[in-house]
Amino acid sequence: MCGIIGYLGPKHPKDVLLSGLKNLEYRGYDSSGIALMNDESIQIIKSVGKISELEEKIKNEKLINSNIGIAHTRWATHGKPSEINAHPHSSGHITLVHNGIIENAIEIKNKLIKENIHFNSDTDSEVIASLINKYYNGNMEEAINKSIKELKGSYALLIMCDNEPNKLYAIRCESPLILGVGNKEYYVTSDIGAILNYTNKYVLLGANELVTIDKNGYKITKDNKKIVREINISNISNEDISLHGYEHYMMKEIMEEPVLVNNLIKKYANHLELLPDLKKYKHIHIVGCGSAFYVGMIGKNFFEEDGIDVSIDVASEYRYRNIKYEKSTLVILISQSGETADTIAAMRMANSKGIDTLAIVNTETSTIARESTYKVLIEAGKEIAVATTKAYILQVLILSLLSYKIKPDSNYMNDLLSLPQLLKVQLDKTGFHKKMADKVYRKKDVFFIGRRIDYAIALEGSLKLKEISYIHSEAYQAGELKHGTISLIDNKTVVFGIVTDEVTHDKTLSNLEEVIARGATPIYIGTDKLKYKNQIIIPKIHKKLQPLLVVPSLQLIAYYVAYKKGCSIDKPRNLAKSVTVE
Ligand code: GLU
Repeated sequence: MCGIIGYLGPKHPKDVLLSGLKNLEYRGYDSSGIALMNDESIQIIKSVGKISELEEKIKNEKLINSNIGIAHTRWATHGKPSEINAHPHSSGHITLVHNGIIENAIEIKNKLIKENIHFNSDTDSEVIASLINKYYNGNMEEAINKSIKELKGSYALLIMCDNEPNKLYAIRCESPLILGVGNKEYYVTSDIGAILNYTNKYVLLGANELVTIDKNGYKITKDNKKIVREINISNISNEDISLHGYEHYMMKEIMEEPVLVNNLIKKYANHLELLPDLKKYKHIHIVGCGSAFYVGMIGKNFFEEDGIDVSIDVASEYRYRNIKYEKSTLVILISQSGETADTIAAMRMANSKGIDTLAIVNTETSTIARESTYKVLIEAGKEIAVATTKAYILQVLILSLLSYKIKPDSNYMNDLLSLPQLLKVQLDKTGFHKKMADKVYRKKDVFFIGRRIDYAIALEGSLKLKEISYIHSEAYQAGELKHGTISLIDNKTVVFGIVTDEVTHDKTLSNLEEVIARGATPIYIGTDKLKYKNQIIIPKIHKKLQPLLVVPSLQLIAYYVAYKKGCSIDKPRNLAKSVTVE
């Protein structure tokens, strides 16, 4: 969520900071800003809206000479998006940028106000600047360490002090921040993608490890004790952040699905020993947020078929449940970024009770990947569009493989090997998906219905549509519609009927008839060719692979609907890519 980049080195920081901010844009933000420092002054420029607006403002200013700068994209938590609330924030000697959320900010602020400290913004971040300034009397490290002891919540901070114009300080807790190492130049950022144009060497920072950087190098300390951390090399390539001729990352990422699916199949099909064996668990709890939660819904169907008792929760609820863990329970955490704050909290709750945890994530260096008992990487490459597509598909594929490993089934392997090709053909039916989007884009209300695994698919189809097209959409268990929601159905409504599950096939078709009788326009998505005017026929495949052919069609329809409506497809309003606040 939102992002940070800082630079110290021989170049003027402006270009590094702006290019970094642009690469962080995908994370979602509402305003941005930079600060440049030299021996005489600190110059701050901020803007509400897109980075291009900040860039315009910067062009029109006379910039100071500088070799140190910090920059920020904000996703407001305290105070509305405005120039005053945009970062960097200053107090006395201190200027900083902050990602995260300080839960006890109001408490601290009230105390500081009593000490006659004045605040300009409504942010929790300015409170941190004031606190550090209050404790600063010549020793920044001491002031920072003292301040963070008072903070509750999450933070990634880049801090400058006008008394120390050659130094840059960075510290994190819960929110991501890494140190990039170049040739006598240093970067600090929330995401390696922001600095790949300059370096692929990076250092991971643990909680509350303070980095002090100057032109001679950097040091890392925790509570004044020196820490040595290895330098890693990132294998993410710049390729991942290029659009490759597509108009949107979302389309590029959907189209990558067949190749990525094929890569995972090649890796695991004959090497299931590389995956953890879940046979030994009697209970599985699946935890995720948003689409990752819906991936979990699919997984629940798989693992229940294997005879395991499965429960599933949204992470922000799970972490507050009073769970009496039974022996032989596994908690599966699903998160693309591996930094989802609520999922981290859920993982830590299970870890603290000695329960095994399994992370299904995309980012190897992420908190969830590092702290869980087992991890399986989905190897999606970088996913930039805020609405997940390829990561969803690869997460489902991993769950499917894990399930197959629990209960092998002779029909599965052949189907698995044919999946990439079938998926490719399905995605190539462009005109077909566009035609369905035509039925939807002017509508105000859309429903997705299905039963069992088709309901789990419906949830993702509905979420994809609403998050990028802003059309109100709901997913319902097909059998549940008549217990209330059917009153909303009229001749202006479109209802997608997802019908792949053999057990409930006829019943769901009857439910589709019920909404047709009430005037709705049906769109049938299923494995049999039926009589519907609007239908998408999905090739039949093993039931533990079937969602992998249905959901991509729903992703494409959502894309074309949003496209026709002229929506900001890759960066839908109010949404952030990795939700690092609770
Ligand atoms: N909580 C801070 C604010 O509202 C920082 C939000 C962010 O992570 O961008 O300004």
